[in-house]
Amino acid sequence: MRSGHETDSATVPTLAPTPGPGAGALVPGTGREPLAPGLVIPEALKPRDGRFGSGPSKIRDAQLAALSGAGRILGTSHRQAPVKGLVRSVLAGLRELLEIPETHEIALGNGGAAAFWDIATAGLVQHRIAHQVCGEFSHRFAESTRSAPFLGTQIIDSAEYGSRPANAFHAEADAYAWAQNETSTGVVTPTRRPAGATQDQITIVDGVSGAGAIVTDFSQADVYYFSPQKAFSSEGGLWFAVLSPAAVERAHRVAERRDRWIPPFLSLPAAIENSRKGQTYNTPSITSLILMADQIEWMCRNGGLRWAAGQAAYSSDLVYSWAEAHPHMKPFVRTPEHRSPVTCVIDVDETIDAPALAQVLRSNGILDVEPYRTVSSSQLRIATFPSVEFDDVRSLLDSIDWILSQWNRT
Ligand SMILES: *Cc1c(COP(=O)(O)O)cnc(C)c1O
Repeated sequence: MRSGHETDSATVPTLAPTPGPGAGALVPGTGREPLAPGLVIPEALKPRDGRFGSGPSKIRDAQLAALSGAGRILGTSHRQAPVKGLVRSVLAGLRELLEIPETHEIALGNGGAAAFWDIATAGLVQHRIAHQVCGEFSHRFAESTRSAPFLGTQIIDSAEYGSRPANAFHAEADAYAWAQNETSTGVVTPTRRPAGATQDQITIVDGVSGAGAIVTDFSQADVYYFSPQKAFSSEGGLWFAVLSPAAVERAHRVAERRDRWIPPFLSLPAAIENSRKGQTYNTPSITSLILMADQIEWMCRNGGLRWAAGQAAYSSDLVYSWAEAHPHMKPFVRTPEHRSPVTCVIDVDETIDAPALAQVLRSNGILDVEPYRTVSSSQLRIATFPSVEFDDVRSLLDSIDWILSQWNRT
C-alpha cells in the first residue's frame, strides 16, 4: 500500500497532476477489476485544492502570504520583543477564539502533542490514570503512562475501533484521559467529567485535532492540549495546553515530589512560567507561530469557533451523506453522534481496491485520503478542517465517483 511513489509526491504538495505508474501497476485480486492506468480526472471535476490530510493539513494561501509579509521577524531572537509579542498574540488569540476562562492558563512548548504525553506522564499523574482508548492516538498516550516506572497500574477502558468506551468513573484514578477527536478512527468523545468524579481527579483531554473545530466546555477539562498542524493549518512541532487551576496546582504538586525526576524539558511548571513571559523553554518555530496567528485571526474575523465548527460540520456532513447513499461506501463510525466533524473515515467495500483508489487520487494531486495505517486498509479518511472549502469537498466526492465510473468501464 505504501509505495515509493506515494512518499515522493507526499513531500511536494503540488496540485498539478503527477501521473505516475501507480494506478496501472496495481492488479487487484479476485472480484476486483483493474484500474485504468494513468487515469486522469477531468480538470473541471477536480478540487481546486487537493489537500485533505488529517495533519499536516491544508495551509491556506493567505497564511503563506502572512508568512512572507511577516518579513524580518523570521530569523530574529525568540528572547526579544517581536517574537515574544508574536507568542503573546497567539496565546491571546487562542483565549478569544476558544473562549478560555480567565481562571485558566494557556501554555506552549516544543515537541508537539507527543511530547505533551510525556509531560503529562511525568508531571500530571500522581499515581494512577484511567485512559479511554478507541484508536491509535489515545492508545499512544496510554503507552506512555504504561511504561512509566513511577506510576501504578493504569486503568484502560477500551472500545472497538469505530466506537468509543463509556465515560466511566474510577475511584482509584487521580487522572482521566481521552481524545476529543480520535483522528485515526474519526470518533468524537464529548468533553465531560465522568459522573461521580471527585475534586482531586483531573481530566486530560487530547484536543489535538478537535481544537479550533469543536466547541469545548472548559469546566469539564482540566488539561486541554493540542498542536498547530490540524485545524489551525500550521506546522507541527509545538504543543499548546489550556490548564485549569486544579491542573496548575497538580503540576506543582507532582514537581515537588521527591520520588519523581522530571527532565527539565518536560517540566510543565517551567513551561507555564515561560509562557507567561511570551517565551518557550527552548527555541520555537517562528514560522509555525506566524501561520497559526493568521489562522486564529481568520477564524475570529469570520465568526469565531462556532463559525469554524460550523464549517467543519457542514463539510463532514457532505462526506457522510455521500457515503451513506453510496453503493460501495459507508461511514466507518456507525453511530452518527460519534462521527468526527473533521476526520471522516469511510469504509470502502470489498469490490473496490481502496489503496488503488487513493493512489489514483494522489496521482491526480488529490492528497492524503489514505486511512490511518493500523486501522484498516479498506478505507478513505478525508479531513474537513475549517480551512477546507465546501466546493473542494464536493469536487473530491465527484472525482471519486468519476474514477469508480471509469473503473467499471475498463
Ligand atoms: C496528530 C495527533 C496527535 C499527535 O500530534 P503531534 O503534534 O504530531 O505529536 C495526537 N493526538 C491526536 C488526536 C492527533 O490527531
